[in-house]
Amino acid sequence: MNKAIFLDRDGTLNYDSENYVKSIAEFKIFKNTPEAIRIFSQSGYLVIIITNQSGISRDYFSKKELQHMHDKLKSAVKSEGGRIDAIYYCPHHPDDNCDCRKPGLANVRKAIKRFDIDQSNSYFIGDSKKDITTGAKAGCRTILVRTGIKNYRPEDIIKWKFKPDHIMDDILTAAKMITNKQK
Ligand SMILES: [Mg+2]
Ligand SMILES: [Zn+2]
Repeated sequence: MNKAIFLDRDGTLNYDSENYVKSIAEFKIFKNTPEAIRIFSQSGYLVIIITNQSGISRDYFSKKELQHMHDKLKSAVKSEGGRIDAIYYCPHHPDDNCDCRKPGLANVRKAIKRFDIDQSNSYFIGDSKKDITTGAKAGCRTILVRTGIKNYRPEDIIKWKFKPDHIMDDILTAAKMITNKQK
């Protein structure tokens, strides 16, 4: 079986926005993201992005524009020597009550099946409570990164039903922690 790093997108790999990241111009990748993903790839992890993109059903941007953003991300990662193995996005509105919008597990389950992933040997990294809930429910270890727009206080996090296993400054710090641990 394979091990994977499941990654949220907005606020984890790139700057998030209160008004949605709607275009390639607004899609700004964090400086540390390509290096972090290279570390994961080189350490034998599959890298799989699981992202909610309800802006599509809200008509804020098209699937084509989203594809452009993801092409930009993939090429930035590739030039650093890393690899994004798959990107699963939920295009639905919260009111659609779909199973693929986090904390729904449909997209994670799809990836687990497709890539034969051992979730207990895998991590879910994200900047929001939803990501931590998704990862924990899927049986992964979870890391909350501090690069999002929400500023959770420790006294909030302590009350969550699913608490993160680790809280790290950013994805690169998380990558170094994960890969040091397994040596
Ligand atoms: Mg996020
Ligand atoms: Zn969905």
